[in-house]
Amino acid sequence: MTMEAIAERLREIRGIMAAAERKSGRTEGSVRLCAVSKTFPAEAVEEAIAAGQMLFGESRVQEAAAKIAAVPPGAEWHFIGHLQSNKVRKILPLCRLFHAVDSLALAGDFSRIGGELGVTAAVLLQVNVARDGAKFGVDPEAAERVLAAMAVLPRLEVRGLMTIPALSRDGEEARGHFAALRELRDRLVGRTGLPLPELSMGMSGDFVEAIEEGATIIRVGSAIFGGR
Ligand SMILES: *Cc1c(COP(=O)(O)O)cnc(C)c1O
Repeated sequence: MTMEAIAERLREIRGIMAAAERKSGRTEGSVRLCAVSKTFPAEAVEEAIAAGQMLFGESRVQEAAAKIAAVPPGAEWHFIGHLQSNKVRKILPLCRLFHAVDSLALAGDFSRIGGELGVTAAVLLQVNVARDGAKFGVDPEAAERVLAAMAVLPRLEVRGLMTIPALSRDGEEARGHFAALRELRDRLVGRTGLPLPELSMGMSGDFVEAIEEGATIIRVGSAIFGGR
């Protein structure tokens, strides 16, 4: 994908996002676009920054650290991939939000290392609403228990939920999973008293449906940067 194409694709996606926000009665500009730059070089990120995109997502620690160091400061980075405990110390200072915290043990590592580094880790709890055995995430039935335990960790702020629905070519199929995540969030807010404002859901093939079902952050890679 040429560099001009990145700017053009970003413009198109922002237009589609605005239309989806309007259609679903949401405030225009209320959904954040996390541009997933994994596998793409720092030059592609810089081109996106030149087109006004400031939020990026990465899913591998080594790659993220190298790319973040190579890009001029000012961009906001989120970590969207599964994390092993032994990588938390390296990535915690580099990213503003961790989308894929999928166990109490990992949440505990974030809090403990956050204490050592003097920072609070902002995270989302990944929920496996599709009950897809191949995906990470806690089962919906376990979410309340895990969330309640996360809420008392001193250096952790749980800001919401994230899901990756089962692979499908059909956005309408994903829609049910997005709605399920929103309904689960609303239930958990009522039962735990935590605000849980963020819903991270929707990728290149289904972000319109995700916005219509309440996403606050969509994670879009290939539709911006091209095929991997
Ligand atoms: C790669 C990835 C994305 C982006 O997927 P695209 O289909 O390229 O938009 C979103 N979320 C997660 C967790 C990913 O790993």
